[in-house]
Amino acid sequence: MIDSIIVGYGLAGFNIAWQMSQHQKEFLIISDPTFKGASTNAAGVCNPTVLKRYTMAWNGIDFLNYAKAYYKNIEPELDNQFFYPLPIHRIFYKEVEHNDWIVASQREGLTSFLKSELVRKTTTTLKNKAGYGIVEGLGKLEINTLLKRYKETRDPNQFLNESFDHSALIISKNSIEYKGIIAKRIIFCEGFGLKQNPWFDYLPLVGSKGEYLIIKAPKLSRNQIIKGSVFISPMGKDLFWVGASFSRNDKTNTPTVEGNSWLVEKLNTLLNTPHEIVKHEAAVRPTVIGRKPLLGVHPLHSNMFILNGLGTRGVLMAPLLSKWLMKYIDEGKQIPNEVAINRFESYFSNPK
Ligand SMILES: Cc1cc2nc3c(=O)[nH]c(=O)nc-3n(C[C@H](O)[C@H](O)[C@H](O)COP(=O)(O)OP(=O)(O)OC[C@H]3O[C@@H](n4cnc5c(N)ncnc54)[C@H](O)[C@@H]3O)c2cc1C
Repeated sequence: MIDSIIVGYGLAGFNIAWQMSQHQKEFLIISDPTFKGASTNAAGVCNPTVLKRYTMAWNGIDFLNYAKAYYKNIEPELDNQFFYPLPIHRIFYKEVEHNDWIVASQREGLTSFLKSELVRKTTTTLKNKAGYGIVEGLGKLEINTLLKRYKETRDPNQFLNESFDHSALIISKNSIEYKGIIAKRIIFCEGFGLKQNPWFDYLPLVGSKGEYLIIKAPKLSRNQIIKGSVFISPMGKDLFWVGASFSRNDKTNTPTVEGNSWLVEKLNTLLNTPHEIVKHEAAVRPTVIGRKPLLGVHPLHSNMFILNGLGTRGVLMAPLLSKWLMKYIDEGKQIPNEVAINRFESYFSNPK
């Protein structure tokens, strides 16, 4: 009997697998490579600040400190760099925005990230006329490289590349069985795929679609992430990730004409340098009512767990959340109430 079956190999699945490999646990990851997950489409920005409202994300500093040390530890073990420290330049379109920035830069929590001095000079590659503010202490994770590299270093038998068939799962008190594979437990990390999961579909995962572009802009600086009405994040080889839109109605992974026009319009208000659109893509973020993740055990089945609801901040939150889940599984350590799925117990008892 192996320790765990993990369903889904995005940031959630990777992080729980990493925690397990650090504890020498045997596991199998079942993930459908044809399902377009959020992780492989994300920009990878690791940011605990909310730059629209100038606030901190819930538990932001703890998540960030843990994530930065964690990604740094992974790098020598996988013999590759994945996390790149990069500032965000928060673009100002009008002088009146400066005051809000200065006030925010003195606010508790934000003060260690928002540099109080504004940069008033403009660059020729951007259209903004009112300078920018610098957010420091952050970075960007190369998610695709990390997921690919970890997989390469593992025994190929630890991965089953197929769609998980929920009807094939046999649940007993002390074990679970899937197509002849017996494990102590199963951990669902399906992102928005959770909607097809008959045990956890009672949870209020709403999902929000994000469309983005990949552009080629040879003259644009790669030394920062730009935050205007969209993010522009460097990818290497003159490529930049531009996005993303938010849609709560359309839950498909299909790029749309409207999404494209919206992105192009935002990009054109920001960029003043030749660029070419290379790709237009879309994926659904696993967002939750109340904006906090979903962590814990099924109300009836003690060997069925979930790590989901990473929303817009999977890079920041997944490392510490996966540690909390491991501690809960191994030592019974309580999961913080804010993210524990038992906050939605009434949704389970009274499904809609
Ligand atoms: C456009 C966009 C930009 C984003 N930018 C950022 C960013 O800059 N920074 C940040 O922190 N976050 C960002 N996010 C959010 C981030 O992508 C998510 O928080 C995170 O990736 C979610 O990870 P996950 O593992 O829970 O889900 P996913 O990445 O969606 O992974 C789910 C996995 O489960 C598998 N799966 C699902 N159902 C099944 C099934 N039945 N059988 C087998 N396998 C299954 C899928 O194949 C997939 O591998 C962005 C998201 C989007 C869409």
